[in-house]
Amino acid sequence: MEGNVIRAARYPFLPEAREFVSRHIDLSLESLDKTGSEAALKRAVERVKDALILKEVRVTPQHESNYVREMLSFPLAIILVSAISNEYIRRIYSLGESRGAYKRMLRENDETLLFIGERLGVRGIMDNNGFIKISIPTYLNLAYVFHEHRWKLVNRIVDKGYVWVSRTEYARLIQVEVNNYVYEKTLEPIPVTVVPQRLKEAMKTIIETWNKLEESKPSHAISEEAGENPPCISRILKRMEAGENTSHFERLVIATFMIAKGKDIEEIIELFSKQPDYKYNITKYQVEHLSGLRGGGKKYSVPSCRTILANGLCYPDEKCKGVKHPLGYGGRSIGGKPRVS
Ligand code: SF4
Repeated sequence: MEGNVIRAARYPFLPEAREFVSRHIDLSLESLDKTGSEAALKRAVERVKDALILKEVRVTPQHESNYVREMLSFPLAIILVSAISNEYIRRIYSLGESRGAYKRMLRENDETLLFIGERLGVRGIMDNNGFIKISIPTYLNLAYVFHEHRWKLVNRIVDKGYVWVSRTEYARLIQVEVNNYVYEKTLEPIPVTVVPQRLKEAMKTIIETWNKLEESKPSHAISEEAGENPPCISRILKRMEAGENTSHFERLVIATFMIAKGKDIEEIIELFSKQPDYKYNITKYQVEHLSGLRGGGKKYSVPSCRTILANGLCYPDEKCKGVKHPLGYGGRSIGGKPRVS
């Protein structure tokens, strides 16, 4: 029993944590104005602040030992994020919870890792060498967020409807599921019309932290005009247009995005022409390589929102709500069909 409760506190998105909370704790928001919930609310604020500042929600053995507070703090954090209704905070919080969970999962034994996957609908079966097979649909639903070639189904060992992954890769796939789960939860409206005072105070603390972080970020003086492109893309394009030196990842995002939008290779090369290290032939080679015209015909995919966020380049606006991929911005589907994850 003790072990199970600790595990539920360590992974509070597991169904057993939810069951524990609904069985033992009054989670009605009205109860927040009664005594007894301060500690859980404080910890909920800490969860969100961890995500904002460290991009990872830490759960220490001390947190776990106070398991009731720990389990309760998770739904409270979701309520806080949902009530703040800021797209960036939603996304960074989901990423923070999933990243923390990933690191903890890597330290688990095989049995626990498989158990967590099973409970989250990412069922895996391990062989004697420690490799794990998962069904192709499950794999595809999660691996689409990774743009590296090794995640493409054609580059995997596939056997009788299953894909083989390493232990670490399995934990990465579960991380995606956790990220999606937390994000979806934060999209749900909070179940009250009048927000309790304590919740308002907790929200204020989080917003203040976020404002401070925003102020400390270098400004790229981007005007927020509405456009066809998602804000992440517009920002990079404006920096390129201004002749600022962009990172390798930013260039990859722009090139793959423009390729996916069907832009002409020469048009794409032109976008890079103001880069301080611009050389036409090298840029042409790289763009053609990304588009699959060179190097074995492999076309690179556009990084997912999650990856762009993890690289600090996500600046969501209202049209980003629920979007998991820049190509899905503004309600467009990717590859002609809506993404599930
Ligand atoms: S499209 Fe995705 S990555 Fe780009 S700004 Fe919107 S949410 Fe962020």
